[in-house]
Amino acid sequence: TAGESHILRADKISMRFGGFTALNDVSVAFPEGQLTAIIGPNGAGKSTFFNIISGAFPPSEGRIFFRGREITGTPQHRFARLGIAKSFQITNVFPQLTALENVRFAIQCMSQRFNVWTPRSRYRAMEEQAAALLEMVELHQHHHRLAMNLAHGEQRALEIALALACDPSLLLLDEPTAGMSPEETTVMMDLIIRLAGERTVILVEHKMKLIMGISNHLIVLHHGELLAEGTPDAVRANDEVRRVYLGQ
Ligand code: ADP
Ligand code: MG
Repeated sequence: TAGESHILRADKISMRFGGFTALNDVSVAFPEGQLTAIIGPNGAGKSTFFNIISGAFPPSEGRIFFRGREITGTPQHRFARLGIAKSFQITNVFPQLTALENVRFAIQCMSQRFNVWTPRSRYRAMEEQAAALLEMVELHQHHHRLAMNLAHGEQRALEIALALACDPSLLLLDEPTAGMSPEETTVMMDLIIRLAGERTVILVEHKMKLIMGISNHLIVLHHGELLAEGTPDAVRANDEVRRVYLGQ
């Protein structure tokens, strides 16, 4: 809408895998500074869309703009430098490193093009930064635990700390509560609310109830098409959305 600034815009995105159309002509814009949730039943095309806007692969058709600048086809490793970070459904921590080492390593990778020799003062600053990020995701009790020994929910929180290492203005999360217990889900939702207070967040979630209360903006995908878009109240009142989610 006029007057509102968008951080990311997807224009007429289609994605085909062989003869199968996973996304068909999807156009959406993501408001800056807000929490937008992409929802829809399993197989709706959410992860495919997420992968495209996070640069994992280019769409078959259509274009992506970040702050008005086209980024379609930009190699994924450049995304962090643009200020876009993501956390996947699949875990990507180093299991044999501690929580603190994992985050410090991510900061190190971001802050210089991998210098073998890091000055001691610089190293200490990075470690402090890593500790602050672990505090942010409420893992400050777990600095020295190996990542592989963390509980599932803690590992997901650690991944988010890794994503935050590049201080992104846009954070992308694909089903951050996947596989979590109700308690872990509550902790993760609280974390997401805090993160959304500081930056733009786009997240994929198939549990509609979970997201209704915390997001500003909703995008509903169904069979690869944009079914509805708007505030949670508007989406909840949408007849087509009701039909799709009937019985869920
Ligand atoms: P969601 O995340 O909403 O559950 P996905 O984006 O993962 O849905 O998948 C949407 C549809 O596209 C599904 O039918 C899925 O089987 C298909 N699909 C996704 N990725 C591929 C792929 N790499 N090759 C073939 N089909 C795929
Ligand atoms: Mg998915």
